[in-house]
Amino acid sequence: MTYKITLIPGDGIGPEVSGAARRCVDATGVKVDWEIAEAGADIIPKYGTPLPDSTLASIRKNKVALKGPLTTPIGTGFRSVNVAIRKELDLYACLRPTKSYKGVRSKYENIDLVVVRENTEDLYAGIEFEIDKPETKELIADIERLGKKKIRPDSGISIKPISRTGSKRIVKFAFEYAIKHNRKKVTAVSKANIMKFTDGLFFDAAREVAQEYAGQIEYEERLIDNMCMQLVQKPELYDVICLPNLYGDILSDLCAGLIGGLGIAPGANFGEGLAVFEAIHGSAPKYTGQNKVNPTAMILSAVLMLDYLGEKDAAKKLEKAVAKVIADGKFVTYDMKPSRDDPSAVSTSAMADAIIAAL
Ligand code: NAD
Repeated sequence: MTYKITLIPGDGIGPEVSGAARRCVDATGVKVDWEIAEAGADIIPKYGTPLPDSTLASIRKNKVALKGPLTTPIGTGFRSVNVAIRKELDLYACLRPTKSYKGVRSKYENIDLVVVRENTEDLYAGIEFEIDKPETKELIADIERLGKKKIRPDSGISIKPISRTGSKRIVKFAFEYAIKHNRKKVTAVSKANIMKFTDGLFFDAAREVAQEYAGQIEYEERLIDNMCMQLVQKPELYDVICLPNLYGDILSDLCAGLIGGLGIAPGANFGEGLAVFEAIHGSAPKYTGQNKVNPTAMILSAVLMLDYLGEKDAAKKLEKAVAKVIADGKFVTYDMKPSRDDPSAVSTSAMADAIIAAL
């Protein structure tokens, strides 16, 4: 059978790492008809938008996409295209497994954590009010009147919506993932002691869902500040970690740090019957076009994709090939060498070639 899959190359280092991942998937023998779909700042002159309808339509039709990172220019008119794709397609669950591979330079060994991040709500929802705008002044006045709290007049405001519906479905996703992947425990994380009506609601919803899995999967709660310290001190105590959007964003970078950095941390976004696979890292603009960065995170995202498609053998084979190349330590990019300017570091495409050869 041939799978039709949407490929969004991305910008910055995107085309280099997604190109490497595509070659690796093709080399597993799984047949894929890649449908290239564009997105990002570079295509605004052509389409008038960084996210054309045709790109969303392609993902809706094919149901599976592999996506390179996309730049979000700071302080310009448009918001993150990455966030827009997740919102438009209601890809509510972001999955970020972080696992130690032998040969990666890291302060930690044997890390095996899975971060499940809510993807559609929270301070990430994009509901923002700019300093000095008339609507911001109106909102401040309303909040002062309704909430009986003072807000400085020269404030910008970001809104943090957290719903029972959104919280329950992400926690359910985490428990279902735990069951399917033989995990033992789900830890829900928030700052419920301070934000009682949003993070508190998240914990309430999580407890309700956890009851359905009592006796099958253990459930516990942590506050986000304590969780950060715990993960640095005793990561082995944790298994599947489920969080609202912003904490999930931050904690998954922390977990990526535990296993040796962003270059090797994969990810996936899931909605109802839709899945978009992408690395945690961004477009690293300063390395654009240098064929230098690590393709591993993107290739491991493709491993998650193969697994999702039910191509378990191909997924295992590709992950093993990645692990072998990393363990050998020879054909790896600069970030995996003992020193960043190690002359023996290889290029993005050469590391992909070595992985393909190891398949
Ligand atoms: P980034 O992840 O792009 O890069 C941060 C640093 O991490 C890089 O400078 C580099 O040193 C290192 N790094 C990242 N990927 C690497 C790789 N594959 N191999 C080796 N080293 C790697 O984060 P940033 O600089 O904060 O963001 C750059 C742009 O990417 C921003 O516009 C941001 O909005 C966007 N972004 C996109 C996504 C996405 O597409 N899902 C995710 C995060 C950030």
